[in-house]
Amino acid sequence: MAPIEPQPGIMDIAPYVGGKSRVEGVTNVVKLSSNENPFGPSAAAKDAVVRATHEMHRYPSTDHAELRAAIAEVHGLDAERIICGVGSDEIIHFLNQAYAGPETEVLYTEHGFAMYRISALAAGATPVEVRERDRVTCIDTLLAGCTERTRLIFIANPNNPTGTMIGMAEIERLADGMPDNCLLVLDGAYAEYVEGYDGGAKLVEQRDNVVMTRTFSKLYGLGGMRVGWGYAPKPVIDVLNRIRGPFNLSNVALVAAEAAIRDTAYVEKCRDDNTRLRTLLSESLAEHGVPCDTSMANFVLARFADQAEAEGCDLYLQKQGLIVRRVAGYNLPNCLRITVGDEPSVRRVAYCIGQFKAGDR
Ligand SMILES: *Cc1c(COP(=O)(O)O)cnc(C)c1O
Repeated sequence: MAPIEPQPGIMDIAPYVGGKSRVEGVTNVVKLSSNENPFGPSAAAKDAVVRATHEMHRYPSTDHAELRAAIAEVHGLDAERIICGVGSDEIIHFLNQAYAGPETEVLYTEHGFAMYRISALAAGATPVEVRERDRVTCIDTLLAGCTERTRLIFIANPNNPTGTMIGMAEIERLADGMPDNCLLVLDGAYAEYVEGYDGGAKLVEQRDNVVMTRTFSKLYGLGGMRVGWGYAPKPVIDVLNRIRGPFNLSNVALVAAEAAIRDTAYVEKCRDDNTRLRTLLSESLAEHGVPCDTSMANFVLARFADQAEAEGCDLYLQKQGLIVRRVAGYNLPNCLRITVGDEPSVRRVAYCIGQFKAGDR
């Protein structure tokens, strides 16, 4: 007999490459490569974690009732339609495991989040990528990309790594036009950064074919805790809960997330700081001849003349102790994605890019 082989699709997965966090020979680096909150989590979340250390010998809640109630209360949602996962990555995996598989297709856009492809392949499904229009999600190409095999369509709104966003009317047009046996997944990892935007929660409540995913990893500053959640029609939640491990979230992670979501003053402060510093960053880069699309998230996508210039700038920034993200793997070889840091970091990265562009290197 031949030796054991993994399931079809698994070896097509290129392992996920996270944002760098160190540079050889450089100390005191500033990490602007993973869209983390530069100010970290709220003090309330940190306090909750310290208190929870006394309960670490106890198994955590299996139904996440308290965290779901907090999410429902703060966002005005139905707790019965919420599911919590180990980051929104886990919710994405649940969706693929439950609804995709061999002989099915999972649709997303050319600059879509890397996990959509990885997770689809892990489930044995065929990932299908369609074009965007100048780095903006295009509903027409998504509709044209649907076949009778399509089961899931993933859109991040705002999108990562482009930072661009599309309106609800466009999203509804997709939900109306896509095949019946298909779910539209709205990834709202950056929804908190957009004032007044519900991430698509209302659309989820109005229809039976839309799911929203959210995360505590970005604005809430809890990327290391690994907590995300999904909002979906009740029948979808029932399906996903069947494949969710009963103890998927630790009690430490659960209390951190609950305290974080209830600290609405901190959320507002972080959103306002980000908006102000993002404008500062994109305007400073524009002055140095580096354009960015209008970003609605906590990063900007800086466009260079070509791949060589983008890579040259990345190496120059690394020497200055500034780590940003290369996005050639997202079909954006001439771009660098730069997380909006605190004010000194924003000023420093803009200054260094100016120095690089001026040829003073
Ligand atoms: C960061 C990010 C996520 C969040 O992943 P977690 O597993 O929740 O940390 C999801 N989608 C997109 C588009 C992201 O950029």
